[in-house]
Amino acid sequence: MAAEIIDGKAIAREIREGLKDRIRLLREQKGVTPCLAVVLVGDDPASKTYVRNKERACNEVGICSRVLRLPDSTSQHELMRLVKRLAYDPDVHGILVQLPLPAHLDKDPVLMVVPWQKDVDGLHVHNVGCLSTGRNGFVACTAKGVLRLIESTGRPIEGRRAVVVGRSNLVGKPTSLLLLNHNATVTVCHSKTADMPSITRQADILVCAVGKQGFIRGDMIKPGAVVIDVGTTRGADGKLHGDVDFASAAGVAGHITPVPGGVGPMTIAMLLENTVEAGEIYG
Ligand code: NAP
Repeated sequence: MAAEIIDGKAIAREIREGLKDRIRLLREQKGVTPCLAVVLVGDDPASKTYVRNKERACNEVGICSRVLRLPDSTSQHELMRLVKRLAYDPDVHGILVQLPLPAHLDKDPVLMVVPWQKDVDGLHVHNVGCLSTGRNGFVACTAKGVLRLIESTGRPIEGRRAVVVGRSNLVGKPTSLLLLNHNATVTVCHSKTADMPSITRQADILVCAVGKQGFIRGDMIKPGAVVIDVGTTRGADGKLHGDVDFASAAGVAGHITPVPGGVGPMTIAMLLENTVEAGEIYG
């Protein structure tokens, strides 16, 4: 039987609609319009597209969007000074530094000057610490979106075996922690994992965040599993491809996300949600 497609676009649209009401209430009751500042350094075409999409999504729901575009020649000191200025600006509720930064810049000290109350990307060590100790805090947007997609299937997480392929700070680690916090039994695979197919085949929930086109084939999936494909790779055909070989996987999985139209729209929706939350709590 063919897998049910998890429609990330439709789920994200519903979330954005709900946010519009929260933003209206916030404006009426507290006179606050949530504001997201995005810092973009350099000319990376993919980053420029991501930032444009975030700006458009903010405008669509009524979040004030400020995009600060800096030249490639920006120094570490200049970037830190700008982020500090945003940190103290009471009209800015969320700050996002678009990654990757140009090679001469070190992202870690920059991310540390974003106050954790404005860290809507969930990358500050305070928020990472909250996630790893099961406390409330901002959670990395892609991981949060992955969890919502799994929840949308109505399939249980508690007590199930979840396998996350990829252990990046941005996706793999926060996703595995979120699943653990929801009482799944979690295994994390990475480039040094031996005999990965024998592990992925045990997964009731399989999340793949590697960045290699068609890396997970149908024969690596447990029949009926929920499969969430985070990967996005631009193929030789110029199109975006996931980590999962959709054609073979869809015949085995119970639920599966497409690429594009799965995780991507949810990442942006979660960024908007975190920004609205920042406005509600700290605005
Ligand atoms: P990343 O930092 O490059 O991490 C990739 C992970 O994959 C690493 O942990 C790496 O293991 C692991 N890996 C590499 N080769 C492997 C192999 N042969 N077997 C098992 N694991 C392997 O990438 P990322 O930032 O997590 O992003 C992953 C993918 O998701 C990319 O395609 C990215 O574009 C996409 N992405 C999509 C969204 C979205 O909104 N749709 C958001 C973020 C990222 P090691 O740690 O051992 O090196």
